[in-house]
Amino acid sequence: AHSSAPMKIVVVGHVDHGKSTLVGRILSETGALPEGKVEYLKEVCEKRGMPFEWAFVMDALQAERDQGITIDTAQIRFATPFRPYVIIDAPGHKEFLKNMITGAASAEAAVLVIDADEGVQEQSRRHGYLLHLLGLRQIAVAVNKMDLVNFGQARFEEVKAEITVYLNSIGVQPTHVIPVAARSGVNISGPAAETPWYKGPSVLAALDGFEAAKPATDLALRFPVQDVYKFDQRRIIAGRIESGRLKVGDTLVFAPTGKSARIASIETWGVNATVAVSAGAGQSIGVTLDEQIFIERGQVASLAERAPSVSHTLRARLFWLGRNGLKVGSRYKLKLATAEYAVEVIAIERVIDVEDLANHPGAEVGRNAVAEVVFRSRTPIAHDSFLDNPRLGRFVVVEDYDIVGGGVIAEAGGVHQAHK
Ligand code: GDP
Repeated sequence: AHSSAPMKIVVVGHVDHGKSTLVGRILSETGALPEGKVEYLKEVCEKRGMPFEWAFVMDALQAERDQGITIDTAQIRFATPFRPYVIIDAPGHKEFLKNMITGAASAEAAVLVIDADEGVQEQSRRHGYLLHLLGLRQIAVAVNKMDLVNFGQARFEEVKAEITVYLNSIGVQPTHVIPVAARSGVNISGPAAETPWYKGPSVLAALDGFEAAKPATDLALRFPVQDVYKFDQRRIIAGRIESGRLKVGDTLVFAPTGKSARIASIETWGVNATVAVSAGAGQSIGVTLDEQIFIERGQVASLAERAPSVSHTLRARLFWLGRNGLKVGSRYKLKLATAEYAVEVIAIERVIDVEDLANHPGAEVGRNAVAEVVFRSRTPIAHDSFLDNPRLGRFVVVEDYDIVGGGVIAEAGGVHQAHK
């Protein structure tokens, strides 16, 4: 039994380079598939006179999910003896990007699949770039279909060099580059006779080598205020703890005002409502303070020594969904945790076309484009960088009640002189 939370991974790469096959193999070799599923599908294929494909297994699982037969609805799960995993579905890169950036799915690590015969393709580079853009730093590369190149070391080294040079150019060091034949199961779970020249880990060993994200309770306290209720003489500050922990007696500092007071009591809501001495990430609570200070929805409580950044400007990586393009001077509402800020776009530093990944600085940001932009807010924004604390490091952009974009904060502390 595993006590840790499953590690979230994504499998990306050019179409037909073998993503489904690799995932199917991984599920099979870790015993994660329903018993008899593969045998059954192999039989069906044989009867129809068509070759068996691991992608069929994935399709079958998907079909069952759509019909709601299996209990586990959202994601593909498996486990090694070391820890459990969830593979986040990455159907098209548009969907994937949107989900990653708006927080619907956030992976901790990725496997980039490259066909050994075809080599690095435009889409392989694009996916590597997008992973980097989203703040993913742990990427293992599977050079797949090694059987097509006779398990030749020379070809492997060629592909490895090409992808490594590219990833390095965008600031990513792949954790491992692994020669693989997903269809026949080479280097998936152990050393392979076909590649005696390869001394590195199998795919599963490489996954086990990824560093797990810190659990939210281990991050700095972030308690965004949802509401302030008054009962009799008491004032209760209600919200959900996004990260970290707090306890009675702690001094809370409220950003952006910087006002502070001590926690007099903590209570939890709902059916099991009780009084508590401490609470942690994921819990919805109410606290009372030992002093009357000005508090309103949108403020973020933290502990003094690890407070969030507060600034009027934000540099962010944005995924744009709006019908109208985003331009310098455009004004929006930015929602971050429980706060809402009136913001203006003051710079567009890069616009990355998701189709060709070309950089068009200063251009209007069109629908489905990714951009690096700078916002300025009328009131100071309490925030973290996405890498430091995803909970306070992402936001959505709203225009006329519609969500028109999602973003992650590139660096905490705002933007310095140049843009002020
Ligand atoms: P995806 O589009 O990236 O998910 O690719 P698939 O997993 O659907 O694989 C595309 C094709 O490549 C299928 O016909 C697979 O059988 C084939 N394929 C996958 N892995 C291997 C491999 O290791 N060797 C060979 N020769 N073919 C493979």
